[in-house]
Amino acid sequence: MTTTRRKIVVLYGSQTGQAETIANGIHEDAVYNNYDSNVFCLKEEGKEFVITDVTCVIFVCSTTGDGDPPENARKFIRSINRKSLSETHLSKLNYALLGLGDTNYSTFCGGPKKLEKALKQRGAKSFFKTAYADDGTDLEDTVEPWIEGLWPALDVYFSSLGTMPNNVMVRNVQSCETVNHTRTEVNDVKADMENLALSKDKIPTIPKDDPSTSSLLSNMTSVDSSQSLLNSFETEIPSNEMLNMSSAPFPGSEELATITLSPLSKQWIGMRFVDAERISLQSQDFKYQNGHSFPLATSETILTKLVEAKQLTRDDAVKIAMEITLKTEDQFPYQPGDSISVCCENPKEEVDWLISRLSLNDVADNAAEFFVLPNSSKKATNPCPYVPRIFTIRYAFTYCIEIRSVPKKMLLRSLAEYTTDQSEIRRLQELSSKQGGHEYVALIREKNVCILDLLAAFKTCSPSFELLVQHLPRLMPRRYSLINSPLVSKNHLSFAFNVVKFEKDIGRMYARDGICTGFLHNLGNASSNTTNQNISQLPSIKVFRTKSTGFCLPTDTSPPLVMIGPGTGVAPFIGFLRHLEALSAQTTDRWLFYGCRHKDRDYLYKDELESYLNKGILSRLLVAFSRDPTSSESPKYVQDNLKLHSLDIANLLFQKRAIFYVCGDARNMAKDVRQCIIEIITKERNCSDKEAVDLFKQVLDEKRYREDIWA
Ligand code: NAP
Repeated sequence: MTTTRRKIVVLYGSQTGQAETIANGIHEDAVYNNYDSNVFCLKEEGKEFVITDVTCVIFVCSTTGDGDPPENARKFIRSINRKSLSETHLSKLNYALLGLGDTNYSTFCGGPKKLEKALKQRGAKSFFKTAYADDGTDLEDTVEPWIEGLWPALDVYFSSLGTMPNNVMVRNVQSCETVNHTRTEVNDVKADMENLALSKDKIPTIPKDDPSTSSLLSNMTSVDSSQSLLNSFETEIPSNEMLNMSSAPFPGSEELATITLSPLSKQWIGMRFVDAERISLQSQDFKYQNGHSFPLATSETILTKLVEAKQLTRDDAVKIAMEITLKTEDQFPYQPGDSISVCCENPKEEVDWLISRLSLNDVADNAAEFFVLPNSSKKATNPCPYVPRIFTIRYAFTYCIEIRSVPKKMLLRSLAEYTTDQSEIRRLQELSSKQGGHEYVALIREKNVCILDLLAAFKTCSPSFELLVQHLPRLMPRRYSLINSPLVSKNHLSFAFNVVKFEKDIGRMYARDGICTGFLHNLGNASSNTTNQNISQLPSIKVFRTKSTGFCLPTDTSPPLVMIGPGTGVAPFIGFLRHLEALSAQTTDRWLFYGCRHKDRDYLYKDELESYLNKGILSRLLVAFSRDPTSSESPKYVQDNLKLHSLDIANLLFQKRAIFYVCGDARNMAKDVRQCIIEIITKERNCSDKEAVDLFKQVLDEKRYREDIWA
């Protein structure tokens, strides 16, 4: 046996940063376990590492679009797919692969599957079973056990080579710290949590005239939810509102007597103040998020002016839909069906509360910089590239950090280290433990709890700003489909959306709007309330164009089109129809299937759609109302109308070779529509289910069934 240190390389392909975070965590654990480990992005091949020189690699790769590898992995996959390479090109390479995907989308884990196929074709060998984690349910359900199993698998692999690590302590389930709570202790914890929930203490509130909070972002409009946020936090927390265990026993809670603590992720981001003086940083002082690139961005981030905000629904609609129109200064080339990403900000009131809760009021506006802690194994020179090099805490929390993201178990585990009250520590440990998985999902994940909720509930928890930056993801721009045609609106970009609402709930300590839809809604209200129509005074919004997913009109406009888009899913079709009208494109079979809840309350673009029908731009307009009291036969959903026209649909699919477009909800609607089309094929082609699925796959391969769906 030799005593060489075991050498591994962790390589990631990451679109939104999740795969990168997981890869970094594996690398940290590897260093902790005395492996000679490095972590790189796959795009660094040839610069930081050479794939033919490495023998043991852990790949973490996500998926984007319709089953594509992330952008930063594509070149690597292309390079090992080169026909000129032999089948043994990577025969020295032994790998383990963790794939990330989302079953709400049609091609689950397409990115990592393509990567693995390419690796295998070049002779690489897997030493540990590949796993595919599903973001549609819970990534951590798969990621955690896979990482636990990785260490013994690496041990077996290296042992087979005859290498012995230096004092290695392979971290696995057994070697993780185990905390035994007796049954009584667990009940104590539950009682403590009830006490916590019943506590008469008030959560610290922010003086509304605090000068340190008003110096920045003075141009932000007041947010309606601010008052409700502050009021929520000022009122006592009702007993049933915070992690009240006794009224809701969870499966698996019996197991909580013994909890296995997951490894504590090492802190590696440090921060220092570079200037004792306060500075006021406004969004326009920097390129948004330091100009750091965004996945799928296909244009520079440009500044637009919000020129119009319209409510599209009646006030009594179940969901309030709005249309926003932005004016661009310069040319902004786009196609109908394209989408833009809106750079949003966190609500001022929440940022202020967070700063106050972390006792950072005195320093929140001081110039600061990040650094990598000296004893860290991280090689990064800039720990947080999407925060300007010199920043303020307030700026980072407002523009760069996703403070509403659901805290990962790793964060809960770290928060326990910053908490003083024993019952709170135990509760955080439980929620972050393997045994607390069900509770974590039910109380944190499914309730969309965020760090503010946790800090409101766990009153003795005082994490550092750096810890939160390390664990909370980057604030990502939100994507919206354009409803314009470039032939009609050259300098205007419009999109429609529902204002997302989250009511107060167990664990969710205050009512809130969606981050971006709330931001747009408030800016829209502010702009429509202003009498000053001087464009320079209108609210500014930064946007960029997002890569087309192939959801576009064919260049030749003659093929028949079938458009299926309930709710705001109709948005890109409005763009299509405006474009076809502007082209005076010859009328052919063009069907639109739309669905909403009530004819009079939320039928979006009703007049415009009916006018397209009258002008012959549309040949059929079929609308289903899901909640209007009509006869039991009347169609409820778009699928019902598809079925009512099943023979026409089959003809359009096979004889007329129409292009089908589906836009809207990925979780239910898109799946149900696919199923409905397969049933129509079975019926109209008089074939078996399997044959129908095969026929449908052919249509997919011919790119005649296109989806732009949103989970
Ligand atoms: P929605 O809530 O999905 O509802 C629209 C209609 O669809 C309602 O009548 C609803 O009926 C019905 N519906 C519910 N379940 C269905 C199913 N399984 N099959 C068919 N119809 C069903 O509409 P929305 O709120 O506008 O949502 C559309 C989705 O598309 C959202 O997820 C949105 O984020 C996304 N989207 C986003 C953009 C964007 O630009 N960001 C663009 C397009 C779409 P009931 O509620 O009565 O059951």
